[in-house]
Amino acid sequence: MKVVHSIDELRRDIRSRRERGQRVGFVPTMGALHEGHLSLVRVARGHSDAVVVSIFVNPTQFGPTEDFRIYPRTPEKDLALLDGEATDLVFMPDVSEVYGKDAQITVDPGPAGSTFEGRIRPDHFRGVLTVVAKLFNMVQPDCAVFGQKDAQQIYLIRRMVRDLNFPLEIIEADTIREGDGLAKSSRNVYLKVGERPLATVLYRALCAAQRRFAEGDAGLKGLQSAMADVIESVPEFTADYATAVSKETYGETDPVADTGRLIIAGRLGSVRLIDNMRLK
Ligand code: AMP
Repeated sequence: MKVVHSIDELRRDIRSRRERGQRVGFVPTMGALHEGHLSLVRVARGHSDAVVVSIFVNPTQFGPTEDFRIYPRTPEKDLALLDGEATDLVFMPDVSEVYGKDAQITVDPGPAGSTFEGRIRPDHFRGVLTVVAKLFNMVQPDCAVFGQKDAQQIYLIRRMVRDLNFPLEIIEADTIREGDGLAKSSRNVYLKVGERPLATVLYRALCAAQRRFAEGDAGLKGLQSAMADVIESVPEFTADYATAVSKETYGETDPVADTGRLIIAGRLGSVRLIDNMRLK
């Protein structure tokens, strides 16, 4: 496994792989890797000859009051985990390598970028799409793998790839969960011991709405109230939203189609948690 820090080294390595006819798969991450990230690496491996992983905590996707400075950073452990997955190339640039001195042009995420996560975290998706576009241009992968854990993010990345004609395939990977249903996340380390068992509220709310849907209630109100009942049972959790959205628009629809997605996010103490589930 090779580790590079500059765009020049990255491009040189990838060029030589292409000359050897390799198909390049890409997994962008912010590090603090866990089993969820490693599952993306395995999916990428199944779709490509060479797997490139980036580790970059992207400052432009954090709001001024968010956790950029304290976001968990565990580079040695990350590299050991990636080595264990037979990763070919790891790109670990610093902020100035990615943004230079005076970058000004950004990617506008469009209307679906200012709802749900975008409403709670203004400019988050502008930061995400801008860095993903930059990384795509640096790596020029044949395919890139993202987790369904961040459903609105993957929706917007797909739109960006389509609307701006990026020549690559986007592959989605399932959400990896703890035994009790909590979606794995680098931010779970922020949960206090007493909060950890309560954090299953998101998964339990999603399951309750999924059950309601399976019983034949596709009405938006019914699905929202199934989630609200579970949420009310955990007063420590303050929901930002708990609803269902359409696959096509990432907006609410009533009734909800069987291709729709249940989405939930909120705050448990000082920790922000998000989760989602495809309806079935
Ligand atoms: P992050 O490092 O949090 O920016 O995440 C990098 C990639 O890992 C994104 O595509 C996420 O959607 C994905 N990811 C994060 N958590 C999980 C999880 N529990 N299961 C699957 N993928 C995940």
